[in-house]
Amino acid sequence: MPHLTPLIGTMVAGLVIAFLFGMAAHRLKLPPIVGYLLAGVIVGPFTPGYVADQKIATELAELGVILLMFGVGLHFSLRDLLSVRSIAVPGAVVQIGVAVVLGWLLAMALGWSHGAGLTFGLALSVASTVVLLRAMQERRLLETDRGKIAVGWLIVEDVAMVLALVLLPVMAASATPAEMAGAIGITLLKVGGFVAAMLIVGRRAIPWLLHVVAHSGSRELFRLAVLAIALGVALGAALLFGVSFALGAFFAGMILAESPFSQRAGEETLPLRDAFAVLFFVSVGMLFNPSVLVEAPLALAGTVLIIVVGKSIAAYFIVRAFGRDHRVALTIAASLAQIGEFSFILATLGSEGGLIEPMARDLILAGAIISILINPLVFALAGRREEAVIKPSSAKESREAAVVLIGHGRVGSRIANELLAAGQRVTLIESSSDIGLPEESERLDLIIGNAASPLVLAEAAIEDARMLMVAIPETFEAGQIIEQARRLNPGIQIIARAHSDAEVEYLTGRGANRTIMGEEEIARRMSNLALAVR
Ligand code: AMP
Repeated sequence: MPHLTPLIGTMVAGLVIAFLFGMAAHRLKLPPIVGYLLAGVIVGPFTPGYVADQKIATELAELGVILLMFGVGLHFSLRDLLSVRSIAVPGAVVQIGVAVVLGWLLAMALGWSHGAGLTFGLALSVASTVVLLRAMQERRLLETDRGKIAVGWLIVEDVAMVLALVLLPVMAASATPAEMAGAIGITLLKVGGFVAAMLIVGRRAIPWLLHVVAHSGSRELFRLAVLAIALGVALGAALLFGVSFALGAFFAGMILAESPFSQRAGEETLPLRDAFAVLFFVSVGMLFNPSVLVEAPLALAGTVLIIVVGKSIAAYFIVRAFGRDHRVALTIAASLAQIGEFSFILATLGSEGGLIEPMARDLILAGAIISILINPLVFALAGRREEAVIKPSSAKESREAAVVLIGHGRVGSRIANELLAAGQRVTLIESSSDIGLPEESERLDLIIGNAASPLVLAEAAIEDARMLMVAIPETFEAGQIIEQARRLNPGIQIIARAHSDAEVEYLTGRGANRTIMGEEEIARRMSNLALAVR
């Protein structure tokens, strides 16, 4: 019999139970995160039965953070980062300040020391990378203006936390202000050193390495190279410069983003990234000690209010003060209304160093779980009024039925051109506002939004459309769109895009009338050409 090691046990139990609970949550129309967190509580030390290894679970979760931040970096250019700095830097700083003051006030009310108040407030001030990115990815917001501001904001928070983590032990040793200023200075120098090293050396070495590997022709080596770069830079950054894994991985990704292989690099790390991100939520669930709910309900309510309401209000007004509209401010406020991994690290460090009491730690952990659980709700509240932005063409009345087209990428843009040139009316739904959109035409209605949302499909007046063209590559999302469209308009003709026989079968099963498989069409054209030049 093979021996069940803690690593294997934790990974397998984490993934299997998270899968079962994630499915159950999905069935109950809850976000899968709820299932993952619950899975963590089940394998955690506070419930009977199997107890997974807390330390290993946290380390696995850290891998998830690295891969996620690497993935975000891949879609981010230095220009993007610089373009949002004027709002992200003051935004993050002021928001952290507000959270610290509120946390400190609660600590004073509970009779804790000033140091405990400061640590507690800091722990409540930083949002979780994983939760924020997941929420943004699900809503396809990452590549929008709002998404970029939120990510920039996150990066600033990350740097602030690196500083806080360095300062805590110094503070615990009750150092003088001069010593603290010295520690801040050294840390800032190290972060600067890391950024400079990445921009000067990394910017040349990393794309070159990937180029060489890509030309070796081995897919396995390419995959390995991408993982080695993501994890290697993250670890190197932590060891050499004392910056966080997340920050290191983000920069590795950002530098790779300039390489022509960035998209493939992202695809290659996707499955691992998703698996480890799930383990992140499991590891959070494991920390939850339900007894805090009975022992300190009022303090817990105060903690949750600071995270969800206090921080959101601060973020909302800061974004508005920088002249952004209501929609942008709401999304950013919602995305930051939670806490996660950094708070756990701060809480652990603080309680080990005797800065905060065990109760403060439990409050931080419980506050994190509750804020993560209700985050989808906060988003729903923030997003209610902005699900779809529609740019209607002239008159609504007496128009011929339109073709609803989903996606304006490589496939959709060609369809739009053909249809508009032929004088057809088109309602286009595209989730990204950054891609090249067609010129305004009075035969075109443009909706920026995720077509998988029933609200967006309703905005597109799918019930009056004569045809639906699903020109996006994601099969599961396409299936969801087709099912919803069929429900709203049983008689509509639906044509979908597929990449394999299995996908054709799946989409037809969801209600597509015709499914065009790219590979089949390419083969047809290529063989036609071969026969024509015989
Ligand atoms: P391509 O694979 O190049 O044809 O690009 C697909 C396009 O579809 C991209 O521009 C995506 O932003 C867009 N897209 C993907 N999923 C959705 C969705 N659920 N709703 C609206 N647009 C989408």
